[in-house]
Amino acid sequence: MIPRKKIIAGNWKMNKTQAEARVLVEDLLRDVGRFDAAEIVLCPPFTALAAVSELLSAETNIRLGAQNLNEHASGAYTGEISAAMLKELYVRYVIIGHSERRQYYKEDNATVNRKTKAALAAEIKPIVCIGETLPEREGNTWKKVLETQLTEGLAGFAEAEVHDIVLAYEPVWAIGTGKTATPAQAEEAHQFIRTHLGKLVSPAAAERVRIQYGGSVKPENARELLNQPNIDGALVGGASLDARGFTSIIKNACAS
Ligand code: PEP
Repeated sequence: MIPRKKIIAGNWKMNKTQAEARVLVEDLLRDVGRFDAAEIVLCPPFTALAAVSELLSAETNIRLGAQNLNEHASGAYTGEISAAMLKELYVRYVIIGHSERRQYYKEDNATVNRKTKAALAAEIKPIVCIGETLPEREGNTWKKVLETQLTEGLAGFAEAEVHDIVLAYEPVWAIGTGKTATPAQAEEAHQFIRTHLGKLVSPAAAERVRIQYGGSVKPENARELLNQPNIDGALVGGASLDARGFTSIIKNACAS
């Protein structure tokens, strides 16, 4: 079995001007610029991608990610950004299907599927987000929800393509709420996702794909969450906006 290298990504959402982004990245480069125990990915807003990309061009293990892309190659899609535009800025990862995009911009599993296809075609690794809402968790339909999100979101991909996808399990009730899934709850969901992926694609792909946990990850809970056997990283929102906090998450997540 190929060991799964942990991947810790910071989703800055609609935060940080270019000037603020530079300060944060310079601090992170100083603290974890050569950190090798995990892959580190920063996902600034589109307007700060070029500035961050320039800073990351030096010798560093920190990678650049985007928060979204349009599924079309080019054309009359006002306000949208294509995979080629991201690629030109050395973007290596892109978040797809975040619950905020699903909720506010009505993205569904079919949209996620098309965007994932566009990212893979440009050799940008998709971080595909899935997760249930609070009523779905409490109504005990969360397994069905995850199954559908995976089946529809990943429909039609070859096994080799799936290897390049990172999944992020983000229970919607834990995002930005301060409520974290317990390590046992998160591990149960990750194990379920891996098992379903095995049936959907292949057992080998299921073993290989990295599954991040996201939802109020903080320095205090990162270690226990990421010590679970099926949790291969974290997608961090609020706590990734501060260099100190994000650095301790990265270091704690990799401490056994
Ligand atoms: C996210 O937006 O992906 C996220 C997990 O946010 P937070 O860490 O703030 O809950």
